Amino acid sequence: MTKNFASHADLDVKNVSFEKLGEGLYAYTAEGDPNTGIIIGDDGVMVIDTQATPTMAQDVIRRIREVTDLPIKYVLMSHYHAVRVMGASAYNAEQIIASKPTYELIVERGQYDFDSEVGRFPRLFDDVESVPGLTWPTMVFENKMTIYMGKRRVEIIHAGRGHTQGDTVVWLPDEKVLFAGDLVEFGATPYTGDAHLADWPKTLDVLRALKPEKLVPGRGAALMTPEMCEKAISETQDFLTTMFASVKKGVSEGKELGQIYKETYAVLKPKFGDWVIFDHCLPFDVTRCFDEAGGLDHPRIWTAERDVEMWKSLEEIE
Ligand SMILES: [Zn+2]
Repeated sequence: MTKNFASHADLDVKNVSFEKLGEGLYAYTAEGDPNTGIIIGDDGVMVIDTQATPTMAQDVIRRIREVTDLPIKYVLMSHYHAVRVMGASAYNAEQIIASKPTYELIVERGQYDFDSEVGRFPRLFDDVESVPGLTWPTMVFENKMTIYMGKRRVEIIHAGRGHTQGDTVVWLPDEKVLFAGDLVEFGATPYTGDAHLADWPKTLDVLRALKPEKLVPGRGAALMTPEMCEKAISETQDFLTTMFASVKKGVSEGKELGQIYKETYAVLKPKFGDWVIFDHCLPFDVTRCFDEAGGLDHPRIWTAERDVEMWKSLEEIE
């Protein structure tokens, strides 16, 4: 079957929802496109993931201004992927927050990642010329820190490796609301090209232990009940463990990547094939699983050139 490279054929604009999770807590979601979270404290606003460009961030700012006049004090990066952080400059925040392992990835591969992501998914980088450069944190934490936005308590937690080495979640312990970044997806395929597949399900157990009552995933609709939070966490775990088990089996049998890709695609397609960006993610996902199963702990850097070479080797593309 002939497929367009990555998401070059994905051109339909999505409908945005701006949903209230609780007093001063909002989810900006878009039918499987990257989500943004908003926390309004007594003295300012925190934005969790920025959208891909300053131009796209303007729509988030417009919706924030419909509910508060308080200044946007904090931008938080759930991780380093360009599609979530390159809109940061639009907010003029006092602080841009990231975990130390996220900072290290920006140093090592931030520019490669930007070039690669723009090449893969042009629709998600509307007016890419408005990006002034890489987004650098001004505040870097190790494992956990708490920000008091007035009386509102906001916990910033690096719970372990998963979608990347630096994933950060934002947890409101009083309201039991979790902004999970790409560690949890809902109705959207987890991207594992930079992931740690053995660690990710364990990191999800840490999030489950928080007992969230509402959860904003990285992609997909906000989950509004404890049961739906659990469904999103367990479905993400199921996808990851099923995929990694299939790849590990192939590697242990001495099979080539191309063969393992075909077999793993066939295993996942019936159960997960209707999740958005399934065909986009699978070649990247299985390639990283193959590397980790072979003992490579630190994910290889994706460049625009490597993306295309890998796709050509696994898919018939136009
Ligand atoms: Zn990501």
